[in-house]
Amino acid sequence: MPGTSDRCEHFDSIRDVAPVTDGCQECLALGEPWTQLRICLTCGHVGCCDSSPSRHATAHFHATGHPIIEGYDPPEGWGWCYVDKTAVTLPDQTPQRGPIPFYDDF
Ligand SMILES: [Zn+2]
Ligand SMILES: [Zn+2]
Ligand SMILES: [Zn+2]
Repeated sequence: MPGTSDRCEHFDSIRDVAPVTDGCQECLALGEPWTQLRICLTCGHVGCCDSSPSRHATAHFHATGHPIIEGYDPPEGWGWCYVDKTAVTLPDQTPQRGPIPFYDDF
């Protein structure tokens, strides 16, 4: 059992992922800023949070249906299920790929 939550049954979607990019994949490509990062625990997509202008983590969920993300700025060990709209407890923190770039470092 990789994690625990009273309300989420999506833990079987969690894979042993590696971050695909150091920062939000779409924002890096577009040269846009973000506030905080989320990593998809199904495929390793790194996207920006709902406080960011473009909300790419949520957009990734809508595009793919991958339900669970982890806070990733740096890895914080907590998760969120978009389907159940509930916080989930994760077994591990996904290792950071490298220093996370911020938009003013571009
Ligand atoms: Zn769930
Ligand atoms: Zn973004
Ligand atoms: Zn994904």
